[in-house]
Amino acid sequence: SSPVLNVHRLKTAFATDDGEVTVVNDIDFHVNAGEVLGIVGESGCGKSVTSLSVMGLLPANGKVHGDIVFKGENLARASDQKMRSIRGNEIAMIFQEPMTSLNPVFTIGSQLIEALKIHKKMSKKQAQQLAIAKLKEVGLPRAEELMKDFPHQLSGGMRQRVMIAMAMMCSPQLLIADEPTTALDVTIQAQILELMTKLNSETDTAIMMITHDLGVVAEMCQRVVVMYAGKIVEEADVVSLFKNPKHPYTVGLIRSVPDMRGKKERLYSIPGNVPKPGSIQTGCQFAPRCEHAMERCFQETPELTSLAEAQKVRCWLYVESKGEGAVDRTIS
Ligand code: SF4
Ligand code: MG
Repeated sequence: SSPVLNVHRLKTAFATDDGEVTVVNDIDFHVNAGEVLGIVGESGCGKSVTSLSVMGLLPANGKVHGDIVFKGENLARASDQKMRSIRGNEIAMIFQEPMTSLNPVFTIGSQLIEALKIHKKMSKKQAQQLAIAKLKEVGLPRAEELMKDFPHQLSGGMRQRVMIAMAMMCSPQLLIADEPTTALDVTIQAQILELMTKLNSETDTAIMMITHDLGVVAEMCQRVVVMYAGKIVEEADVVSLFKNPKHPYTVGLIRSVPDMRGKKERLYSIPGNVPKPGSIQTGCQFAPRCEHAMERCFQETPELTSLAEAQKVRCWLYVESKGEGAVDRTIS
């Protein structure tokens, strides 16, 4: 299927007292119509800034270079007015903490209807009926009464369901979800992921799922992009990523997933920390943490290279030294 979003050479930098700091550094990815794309990495890898760049929601000191093409329109150069007409309408989003996105002084009903008032011509009665229908779709009981409730009267899980209902009000082509289940307890997390999977399969809405959690990726995503220090280091379909991860960082992430059979402790964690944006070194950014690092890794920056099928990796282990192109191999 064709991409609904095509991001090309996206670079996002912030003006700071210490000069310009690049947080997203020349990334390319696309989201196909109807699919779920995972964008994965530790906190500080640039994944949230990527989503804010797409939405046009960067703080005033942030600047975007490159192309963000949504349905033929380059959002990187769109006016504020254009972005307001797209946000919450054709592109919707949900965040980690629904309480910060819901307004505490308005009822659930009035907030659901607000999105429609901005973007769609509809009578109040029609809007109300649609809001109730959406609340039912996301599995909320007694939807009619819920319309009159205030956000604080709901549990965290119910609030996130309301946020999803709100995001789906205008039937968006793309839903950007940034750590949508991170603040919820495990049982509720699973229910929310199940709900999002159901909505994705029943509607045309593609989902860009931003997460640090490979469990979420395994549960929901069809394709995955792994980010490290503002760059994409691996791209693969979800099966290849788990069966045959290529980049040592991806291998480390997979090894550090808490045991899915119920034990909660982490068996492994990648040593070291994500480099701070602005402290970018020459060579591979992962080199200080990589058990496979060679001399070359500290001197030259590897390119993102295509391997078999749709798998891509940015690592010297997969490049022949003399112009032979990519070599597919397996590390463990
Ligand atoms: Fe490790 Fe070198 Fe590959 Fe970077 S390029 S991930 S340091 S082996
Ligand atoms: Mg984040």
